[in-house]
Amino acid sequence: MDGKLEQLQRWIDESRRIVFFGGAGVSTESGIPDFRSVDGLYNQSYDEPPETIISHSYFLREPEKFFRFYREKMLWPEAKPNAAHRKLAELEQAGKLDAVVTQNIDGLHQAAGSVKVWELHGSVHRNYCMECHQPYDLDFIVHSEGVPRCKVCGGIVKPDVVLYEEALDDRVVRGAVEAIAGADLLIVGGTSLAVYPAAGLINYYDGSRLVLVNKTPTPYDHRADLIVHAPIGQLFAQIEVRA
Ligand SMILES: [Zn+2]
Repeated sequence: MDGKLEQLQRWIDESRRIVFFGGAGVSTESGIPDFRSVDGLYNQSYDEPPETIISHSYFLREPEKFFRFYREKMLWPEAKPNAAHRKLAELEQAGKLDAVVTQNIDGLHQAAGSVKVWELHGSVHRNYCMECHQPYDLDFIVHSEGVPRCKVCGGIVKPDVVLYEEALDDRVVRGAVEAIAGADLLIVGGTSLAVYPAAGLINYYDGSRLVLVNKTPTPYDHRADLIVHAPIGQLFAQIEVRA
């Protein structure tokens, strides 16, 4: 582990266009569980699996049940950034990191100070009326009851979160691809790389310094130039930011 930390530190020291690609594991150290871990066997309050509830057709069909699950399992307004979020923000401020690409919707990278963040699956902090497109913040969703309704027109307020059956935002995907393609160091953390489109995006990296940080092996381990099996926050806490 010590040798790997030193190698990662040396690569970070030498890089100017770092890109970090992160998944749910980045936020678990902030106390946010992966909503996919909701298990029907242990969770009697939901009849359907999360993938069904968090889908576009279910949202339209059963908005009451959707918002019950959404508020209970996907909103963590008290969560705070951890060492990984903070260190990535420092690297950006030091001019060493180009962008963060994330599968998370919690906004913790921005809360830590990161500016260039490509949110592949959207954000719980943005919500729009489906009729008049009036924007609403996270507080509005947290403090409304049942199906949140627009104060202007009464339309349903929908989170700007990519649901199952919905396409990713083209602009965001292009931004992520450009950042990854131009990276001199790509650090992938807290994702098993099993969920679309993570694996596909990694293929745009053209450099020779692909670092995978994950607690368990991923299908991409053979492609990595450095593999660290450790919690990402614990690892990043030990990294020093040197301009
Ligand atoms: Zn409206």
